[in-house]
Amino acid sequence: MQKISNYINGQLVEPIGQSYLDNYNPATGNVYSLIPDSDERDVELAYKAAAAAYPAWSLTSAEVKFKIFMKIAELIEQNLEQLAAAESIDNGKPISLARVMDIPRAASNFQFYAQAITQFSSESHQMEQSFLNYTLRQPIGVVGCISPWNLPLYLFTWKIAPALVAGNCVVAKPSEVTPMTAFLLSSICIEAGLPAGVLNIVHGNGPKTGMSIVSHPHIHAISFTGGTRTGAEIARVAAPMFKKLSLELGGKNPNIIFADCDFDEMIATTVRSSFANQGQICLCGSRIFVERNIYDKFKTAFVDKVAKMKVGNPLDESTKMGAIVSQLHFEKVLSYIELAKEEGGKILCGGEAVQMEGDLKNGWYISPTVIEGLSYDCRTNQEEIFGPVVTIMPFDTEEEVLKMANSVMYGLSSSLWTLDLKRAHRMASLIQAGIVWINCWLVRDLRTPFGGIKNSGVGREGGFEALRFFTEPKNVCLKL
Ligand code: NAD
Repeated sequence: MQKISNYINGQLVEPIGQSYLDNYNPATGNVYSLIPDSDERDVELAYKAAAAAYPAWSLTSAEVKFKIFMKIAELIEQNLEQLAAAESIDNGKPISLARVMDIPRAASNFQFYAQAITQFSSESHQMEQSFLNYTLRQPIGVVGCISPWNLPLYLFTWKIAPALVAGNCVVAKPSEVTPMTAFLLSSICIEAGLPAGVLNIVHGNGPKTGMSIVSHPHIHAISFTGGTRTGAEIARVAAPMFKKLSLELGGKNPNIIFADCDFDEMIATTVRSSFANQGQICLCGSRIFVERNIYDKFKTAFVDKVAKMKVGNPLDESTKMGAIVSQLHFEKVLSYIELAKEEGGKILCGGEAVQMEGDLKNGWYISPTVIEGLSYDCRTNQEEIFGPVVTIMPFDTEEEVLKMANSVMYGLSSSLWTLDLKRAHRMASLIQAGIVWINCWLVRDLRTPFGGIKNSGVGREGGFEALRFFTEPKNVCLKL
């Protein structure tokens, strides 16, 4: 069975304790590789390698970093098929999606930040003719990056690329549920000539490996993407140590549909925004609010399309809905469907596990599920499910839908469908979310601020926001 290695000080190494965790293929339910069950000794080794590499890396020119990053991106692109297949097997996502979204975006993250650092500048403030202030933006030192399982390589590289290019050295941990592509990236970094110790990837679970990074006394910043509860635990430990924290957390995003929208485009996009990646994208719209005078028309057209979505083998080219990432998550999603029924919800389609055949018979599959008849403030509509489950609800006025949309503790993203320009801008300013898409979904310009408000997180990623996070501003005041 394949054993994944840690990547420390430029080398692929075994965990010090020689202990491993099982890695499952969600499509079959079988263990197919082993993951290092790293502990604080491995994190310490990674920290020491990073600290030793830091002085030289922080002084490396933008041009040299640019070349290394572009080489990493090129190697990701050259290995697209291998990486897409690995992502699909590890996560259960359709290979067709990994090929067009996850892996190309991982390459873009390196390309984007290779260029962004050449454009990054800082401020100066002159005080009359007497004093000049200027701001230095210096790397922090050794930083920690911790990422989730839903977009494994995509989100892992979204953190490490800005952290590294800003001059930091990194100790990173991908999700133990989907470690494979981060492992494959280790070899790519070696081949691309990334100096030893600049990036260290330590595999393992959250409470042990992740927490060893968070609580390490000399790792001064943590960039984390994952669940809100985990984010709270990380903040509880890191805040008294005065670490810089970027927390990208859960969501319960509204999708608000007015009668005057472009109906066909809205339906096609809403199917995607509900069920892409089995609904396991933090930006999926799981609460769909529809203006009452088109509610029935929407329901018929939407359910008709969703009911035709076939759940299938993630490795089949035609599959649009793959497997749920793990048994634990599969059970969690099913328990929410049960809760929805208890709360009086009517299942319009889906609502159950799909029993596959042959090699896939022990895999974790759930049919895309649409539920109606629930109040906006019930648990099903307030708690993050993070699976192929959406609810639909009618509304009459802007005030009413805003109240319902903003009623949750989350505030990550939102979608609005209307051709009324004034209403679109009015709603966009009043909706409580870090991201508003109008008549579209998941359109990503990497320069824009990315993140949420309320319990969806603290701080922003993307563009210069991430470069500001991964640097410390220092004001220098000079008497002229
Ligand atoms: P998770 O919080 O369980 O795990 C995320 C990462 O944190 C993993 O690497 C895990 O090992 C690690 N971890 C867990 N406990 C830890 C601890 N005590 N200390 C340090 N590290 C720890 O989340 P998940 O289940 O992997 O991902 C799903 C969640 O991520 C959903 O809530 C989803 O909304 C959220 N998410 C948010 C965004 C965003 O940009 N806001 C993007 C993707 C996913």
